[in-house]
Amino acid sequence: MTNQPILAVLEVILAHSAGTCFGVQGAIDIAEDKRKPILGPLVHNPKIVGDLAKQGIPILERYSDLEALQGQGVKEIIITAHGYPKELKQKLLDNNIQFHDATCPVLLKWVYGKIASFEAEGYAIVIVGNPNHAEIIASRTYGTNTHVVYSEEEIDALPDGLEKVVAICQTTITREKFENLVDYMRATKYPHLKAVDTRCKPVKNQQEAVEMLAKWVDAMVIIGGFDSSNTTNLAKLSQKYLPNTTYHIDSAAMLKPEWFNGVHNMGLGAGTSTPKSQIKEVQQRILEIFPGKVMFRQESKDGEILDADFTKEDEI
Ligand code: SF4
Repeated sequence: MTNQPILAVLEVILAHSAGTCFGVQGAIDIAEDKRKPILGPLVHNPKIVGDLAKQGIPILERYSDLEALQGQGVKEIIITAHGYPKELKQKLLDNNIQFHDATCPVLLKWVYGKIASFEAEGYAIVIVGNPNHAEIIASRTYGTNTHVVYSEEEIDALPDGLEKVVAICQTTITREKFENLVDYMRATKYPHLKAVDTRCKPVKNQQEAVEMLAKWVDAMVIIGGFDSSNTTNLAKLSQKYLPNTTYHIDSAAMLKPEWFNGVHNMGLGAGTSTPKSQIKEVQQRILEIFPGKVMFRQESKDGEILDADFTKEDEI
């Protein structure tokens, strides 16, 4: 009888709805169709931005100086998926620079619409989100009485005595962070605060999926740009359950062999700006690195773990 070495087995489960959302895909489609200069990173994923640049589509400064644009003969541009401040869009038009608006429809139609209708009802609007993020820099300009907070200290500095106040949130924030800051606002400033969760559906789905997986796998790899708010939040959610074995990477090359030591099952999550091709590259790299048999699985919407057809041929 020969002594066969026992092969280690690794199960890799892809989180439900991991990867590019319809807003990001729509922005890519507009950029590839129009092929005009993009004012800023179209989405927060270096691979997508790099691929567009490789196709010869110029990526300019996000809030490029209008005179400089005119000096370069730029007459048409593309606005990024996170949106542009209202006044800036007007300025572009006033200066005869046409724009193709790749702002995600969730922002354009839903969030800006909510801001307008709450204002019409006489509400002051508090947006819970990162004040330096492009989405928030733009969204706040679609109302005339908007405030932005991202910490308890910023809430302390809000005006007292406002009668009708509503809180909405950045589309990519975690529910926990939004709820905590709403609770703090109700306790300290506005007891009758109305709060509306304006996270978008793809973000909600991904957050729930990653949280479900992180509760039972040994390790989790989150794939996506480091300046992508929703990817970073997925990593933070996973860290709650896997503080030492959550890894945020923005390319397959970042995977390290030691991350697989003693790991029997690993979750894969990916932000809404992460292309499916990048997820595939990570799966391929796992096959190269892991010194045993790899079985790929797919998480269903209900947290059920299913066979992933596309990976059968990849098994070793
Ligand atoms: S994450 Fe949400 S808001 Fe952002 S582009 Fe995707 S669908 Fe739109």
